Amino acid sequence: MLWPLTKRRHVANPQLAQRIDQVRGQNPESERWLGLVEAAFAEAQAGEAWAHAAVGIATDRPVRAPLLHHARITVRGRVLHRWCRDVLELALEGARSRDLEPVQLLEAAICQDDERIDGIAQNAGIDVASLRVIAQMTALPLLQTCARALTEQVPASWWEGYCPVCGAWPTLAEFRGLERKRWLRCGRCATGWEASWLRCPFCGETEHTNLGYLAPEEGETTRKVEVCDSCKGYVKSEPTVRPLAAWEVVLDDLATVPLEVAALDRGYHRPERPGFVLEARIVLI
Ligand SMILES: [Zn+2]
Ligand SMILES: [Zn+2]
Repeated sequence: MLWPLTKRRHVANPQLAQRIDQVRGQNPESERWLGLVEAAFAEAQAGEAWAHAAVGIATDRPVRAPLLHHARITVRGRVLHRWCRDVLELALEGARSRDLEPVQLLEAAICQDDERIDGIAQNAGIDVASLRVIAQMTALPLLQTCARALTEQVPASWWEGYCPVCGAWPTLAEFRGLERKRWLRCGRCATGWEASWLRCPFCGETEHTNLGYLAPEEGETTRKVEVCDSCKGYVKSEPTVRPLAAWEVVLDDLATVPLEVAALDRGYHRPERPGFVLEARIVLI
């Protein structure tokens, strides 16, 4: 069967389309990745294709393990192969995409197994750093489908700094509503979990003298970077009136590169290793 070659799929959600255009205008250099983000959210919101995915969670997983640890996720082979081909053609203009095994790539991405992704990239002759980003975008529709299916099972109180569903470190912190409750948000599966104000998500530091924030000197001042002097970790934060939509988490992250640069310039960094090393299996149906 022949597939259409037009790869940019415009998203049905007008707010999302508008926000993507805005970020595109501010960061022309991120055009390549914005195209991927746009395609990933169009895919995630198409719903039907991934709605058949099913998660079998492991009931005997350790207490501190995210819900997807040791899970068995069934996906329609036809959907996965089509989506993987779309993403690779969009990101690499079709180069060598035939050498990639979609199940391996998706499984490595869900487990945030960068070593495995790097191995796949080297075997296929693809730039390692590019494939890491591509892999995460490939996993986004499935991770969001899984998180939606698991909403009811997310523990009401979750003390870990990593996502209770997929084990990723938070992409950003929200200070939500009038009460300014602090919610950490996952940029992969979009799960949010409430966290205390003074606690580093990465190392658990609670000593206020070791916790601070960086704020821009001029321009927009509502967004900040929370920093920890114990582990040198940082997470961007912003006030919100309501929980951010999944796409807002990803786009707000992309739109705040200057905050990122400010943190890196001052010696802060994001942890290299995932919050929790997930083991999950993808099974095709
Ligand atoms: Zn997550
Ligand atoms: Zn810390």
